[in-house]
Amino acid sequence: MTRVFSGSCHCGSLGVRLRTTLAPSEFVPRRDSCGFCLRHAARVISDPKGWLEIAAPREATPYRFGMGITDFHLCPRCGCFVAASWIDGDHLFGVVNVNALDERDAFSAAPVITDFDAETRAEREGRRRRGWTPGRLAR
Ligand SMILES: [Zn+2]
Repeated sequence: MTRVFSGSCHCGSLGVRLRTTLAPSEFVPRRDSCGFCLRHAARVISDPKGWLEIAAPREATPYRFGMGITDFHLCPRCGCFVAASWIDGDHLFGVVNVNALDERDAFSAAPVITDFDAETRAEREGRRRRGWTPGRLAR
């Protein structure tokens, strides 16, 4: 059964849709221990067999830090962190912040704490190819 989980930032300018065959209870949100995710209390999920669509307003400039290879999609108006994406050649892979989903309360598994600070770029890219959700960014 295919499900679609929709969400957005608080003001609705920045939208996201995750298409997946997984139920909310099958996801284990990840709580990354980097300074960005801690500040946003982010809980992110992905499904490598799913599909992620990020709809960003034209004026939005993704935030980058660290290796500078990841686009963190924050609403330029209300500031909410909705999703992150990474470009791999012609492909985009992403994660969605559960807190931005309409059904956020259904994703109730305790988040696993992650720390990827020690990864090399190749390790990071390999992990994302295996574990992040393919998708696209629309403006
Ligand atoms: Zn907003």
